[in-house]
Amino acid sequence: MNPRVALLRSTLARRPLLADGAMGTQLQQLGLAPGACGELWNLEQPIRVRQVHRNYIAAGADLLTTNSFGGTSYVLFTHGAGARVREINFAAAQLARDVAGDRAWVLGDMGPFGGMFEPYGEADPADVKIAFRQQASALLEGGADALLIETMSDPAEAVLAVEAARAAGAGCVFATFAFQKSATGFATMMGDSVAAALAPVLAAGADVVGANCGTELSLEDYVKLTAELVAAAAGRPVIVQPNAGSPRFANGNISYDVTPEQFAAAVPRLLAAGARVVGGCCGTTPAHITAMAAVLPR
Ligand SMILES: [Zn+2]
Repeated sequence: MNPRVALLRSTLARRPLLADGAMGTQLQQLGLAPGACGELWNLEQPIRVRQVHRNYIAAGADLLTTNSFGGTSYVLFTHGAGARVREINFAAAQLARDVAGDRAWVLGDMGPFGGMFEPYGEADPADVKIAFRQQASALLEGGADALLIETMSDPAEAVLAVEAARAAGAGCVFATFAFQKSATGFATMMGDSVAAALAPVLAAGADVVGANCGTELSLEDYVKLTAELVAAAAGRPVIVQPNAGSPRFANGNISYDVTPEQFAAAVPRLLAAGARVVGGCCGTTPAHITAMAAVLPR
């Protein structure tokens, strides 16, 4: 195993780690038009992508997440870039690696492919797995230390992504779901409970599991969700990356309410509930990560 991956695994067992915050909302602040393909900026605006990574390193992040959330051929296709999977993901990993050096680990980010499987949709699971494998390979070859499969709603899709990551040679795989509140507790959009979502990805070999994004969940909800995740994680480390609240749209701008101070206040409670990796999702900024770093024991 690559020594940096081995160090990541041993560090995960030893102390809590700090991930970074949002990429998409940061790129929008740097001029990315809403709805535009942020992943193309790895090729067209690398200085701006690097700037976001640099801000998160300065904030104290241990883990940098590549700008490749929508980097499968399925999502890139909708932006006319379906044939550029390899160069876009390779560049995404290289940019984060350049900035991280040996100061942080690079998580190659893999989001949902954006469709549904038969019979709800038209996607063939075998094709989707090939798409994840293509993305995973390019991220690892570009310098990602581990892969982060995130914002998953369908455990079957998450399993395909974990299997593809493993097949591509990833030495460490993170897999996280977007949970919401349901009548019966926390559940994915597809209605799976925390335990039902985690069990198959653990069986597929995910090393770190947890939650990110998640609509309408407060930090207080995230503390409760963390306890459920830990109970279902079979002893493997749990990662939680909450949004900075729900997006509000006004005058063409998106804003998020939850402050860096509120994130900092939540850190000890998330750790007490058993989280081993904390960070932020939509709407979180370098200021959120700076505030979390100040209270994270190292
Ligand atoms: Zn998010």
